[in-house]
Amino acid sequence: MVEPRVHKLNEREVRPDGEYVLYWLRWNRRAESNHALAFAAGLANRLNLPLLVLESLGSRDPYANDRRHTFVLEGVAETAARLRRLGAGYQFHLARRKSEGDRVVYEAAQKATAVVTDGYPETLAGPTAVFDVQAYAVDSSCVVPTNCIEARSYAAYSIRPKIQRLLPQYLKAVPPVRLQKRFGGHAEDTGNGRRERSIAFRIPHEPIAKLVASCEIDHSVRPSTAFRGGRVEAERHLQLFLEERLRRYSGEKNEPCAHATSDLSPYLHFGHISSLEVALAVQDYAREHKLVADEFIEELIVRRELAFNFVRYAKRVNSLDELPQWARATLDKHRPDPRDPVYTREQFESAATCDDLWNATQKELLLRGKIHGYYRMYWGKKIVEWSATPEEALAMMIHLHDRYALDGQDPNTYANILWCFGLHDRPWGERPVFGTVRWMSRAGMDRKTGVKAYIQEIEYLERTGKEQIT
Ligand SMILES: Cc1cc2nc3c(=O)[nH]c(=O)nc-3n(C[C@H](O)[C@H](O)[C@H](O)COP(=O)(O)OP(=O)(O)OC[C@H]3O[C@@H](n4cnc5c(N)ncnc54)[C@H](O)[C@@H]3O)c2cc1C
Repeated sequence: MVEPRVHKLNEREVRPDGEYVLYWLRWNRRAESNHALAFAAGLANRLNLPLLVLESLGSRDPYANDRRHTFVLEGVAETAARLRRLGAGYQFHLARRKSEGDRVVYEAAQKATAVVTDGYPETLAGPTAVFDVQAYAVDSSCVVPTNCIEARSYAAYSIRPKIQRLLPQYLKAVPPVRLQKRFGGHAEDTGNGRRERSIAFRIPHEPIAKLVASCEIDHSVRPSTAFRGGRVEAERHLQLFLEERLRRYSGEKNEPCAHATSDLSPYLHFGHISSLEVALAVQDYAREHKLVADEFIEELIVRRELAFNFVRYAKRVNSLDELPQWARATLDKHRPDPRDPVYTREQFESAATCDDLWNATQKELLLRGKIHGYYRMYWGKKIVEWSATPEEALAMMIHLHDRYALDGQDPNTYANILWCFGLHDRPWGERPVFGTVRWMSRAGMDRKTGVKAYIQEIEYLERTGKEQIT
């Protein structure tokens, strides 16, 4: 275990009569390539105790919906099975009511000798949990721990050399977890008459749709047409990428109909797979098959970790105040510029603009819960162009991601949405509304990509509900 990943949450002692080490699994929903799990297992072994993993899913988020709940629940049976094989106890807690907080976690912590949880930027995770027993947060989100980059980076070119210098140290597989003491007892339900609201080992046998229906969440956002959650699916996408897409990636990654990208972002977001193991697998495969994977590694590590760096150091991840000075100044200067058309929230949300390509990208978000990376830039830039103010454009993009994107509410969401307003970019030629912030045109999309084929693909998906590519 490398120290910068580990953050001690308090100065408390271990509980002498504790029954287990508790790992509260919040972000890294996997049993493999998980530094937090490895740290918790090492601690349990040192204390000669078993390990209990408590995975939770809350309904408190105002945007919690069927799509996200289904995706998470689809991964639970596999995580449970894999952890059980390792000898850990496993309890899944589904908080169905919005008012239900993290009570179950604190109850489990009452019997724990020490607690370990996933480290994640507070701007997204909320305030750090307070435990009355020794507790740690372990960062397993990035290849290079976020704490190793000591200040905010303002562009890819400034973070790239820092990351590259640290890669030899951190681009290494997490050692396999070995538990000396198996978890013998049952992972308990919460008791006190609240048993029905908590599930231990039972969730894989319950129909997921029924569980989701019982939660106090937005039921109007249906599960994704394209992505099923869980470790097996994450591994399948990785394998498909290695065997069929990696060799085409650098040439075709900006052609949505070529399906040359990995589609791993939902799995990375929910932690069903780690960027570390993806990077190692891609590196090994590329070496063995004499392929160049530099462009993919640039996105997966440099760009993704630039986004984590942004949310780690930003004060408010959803504010235009975080933009560089030149971008704020130029957007302000062009505030009075006329906008035509200007669309309402309903028009954006229901994909009812005058642009058939934009409408198709929005429909992809509505149906799949993800937009292809190249068209996602176009999608964002047009929202800037067609909104009354930059603030309204920002709020619209965040709302649509919060509501529909399976990879939304992620460091990448905020950093990339703000990229549409100049974050991590440089000034370009001056034009209306955008000033010197980079603009993207429909003519450019028509010239560089297969717009017609993409629109047809999305129309087919909308008509049939079926994916042509799996
Ligand atoms: C307006 C806008 C909003 C975006 N919102 C999100 C979001 O909510 N969640 C999200 O994960 N990505 C977001 N992105 C970045 C990018 O579009 C997606 O990461 C990518 O399309 C995911 O598809 P993939 O897994 O097939 O990518 P691949 O090309 O296969 O890349 C592999 C991984 O590298 C990372 N990556 C790729 N492109 C970028 C990038 N530009 N910046 C940072 N990391 C990158 C992602 O983790 C991705 O899964 C957004 C981009 C824009 C322009």
